[in-house]
Amino acid sequence: SQRFIWPLAQFGELVNMYQQAVASSERIFGLMDEPGNLAQDEDAPDLVVDEGRVEYDGVRFTYEGDAAEVEDPVVDDVSFDLPGGDTLALVGPTGAGKSTLLKLLLRFYDVDDGSIRVDGQDIAEVNLGSLRRHVGYVSQETFLFAGTVAENLRYGSFDATEDEVVRAAKAAQAHEFITDLDDGYDTEVGERGVKLSGGQRQRVGIARILLQDPELLILDEATSDVDTETEMRIQESLDRLTENRTTLAIAHRLSTVKDADTILVVEDGRVVERGSHDELLAEDGLYADLWGVQAGELETIPGL
Ligand code: ADP
Repeated sequence: SQRFIWPLAQFGELVNMYQQAVASSERIFGLMDEPGNLAQDEDAPDLVVDEGRVEYDGVRFTYEGDAAEVEDPVVDDVSFDLPGGDTLALVGPTGAGKSTLLKLLLRFYDVDDGSIRVDGQDIAEVNLGSLRRHVGYVSQETFLFAGTVAENLRYGSFDATEDEVVRAAKAAQAHEFITDLDDGYDTEVGERGVKLSGGQRQRVGIARILLQDPELLILDEATSDVDTETEMRIQESLDRLTENRTTLAIAHRLSTVKDADTILVVEDGRVVERGSHDELLAEDGLYADLWGVQAGELETIPGL
């Protein structure tokens, strides 16, 4: 499979983000210990999404707390304007701030400076639950709770019909393996149930988001060990998911990066280069350097 691999990048650090970002519903979010300091106004109006435009305007964010050794902003004066339906790809070394940048859109933390707007509405001023219903999150590490496959699929869309659940599972390339389980959709998974592989869990996660049908999608393409066939199936279902949806991706697949409407190269919390794949190659900077390295590596793979 083709990967966009930043030199020295490590891919193990993303479990943390999934545990937080899985909380597209407040139910599980309430069980987590962070963050406690969001200004949450119960009477705030719901977010209304029409086009699905996302604007970051001078966004700055610093993690606080005793553990923080450096007080440098993790996200430093980031601005971009992503039209509805477009795809934004974030690339950059581990620790550059990509995950944090996207967590801000889900309001796991509030920005210190600047603002984030969805279709012109400052996300700090809308009802938090409504925000999370409109922003889906997918990573290779999908959280499964103790319950049946069907219950896990319905997570976030509790009123989905059986028919809708099956259709979503089919579209996510999950139906086949689910029906192969002993009790099909009623099979218990999670801690005391059947262990699903990483690739299977991810497809459950994708089906969930298809059911939720949010206008905005955060996609974390961290690698996981799946075989080529599974990889292809996951790619197929991801394509389905990002279609007609504003997508913000932490990208590792070459195809995601190349096809993105805009690529942001992030380093030390700052956007150091931006543009389309072709524009960035022409700029002959960091991205072009990286691409050169990557292309060199790929030449060694037969058939590419
Ligand atoms: P990336 O996604 O580009 O790898 P992250 O946003 O995960 O970058 O991390 C950016 C920086 O913020 C890193 O230095 C990381 O150690 C730090 N960081 C991430 N999460 C937290 C947290 N919950 N508390 C304190 N620091 C954090």
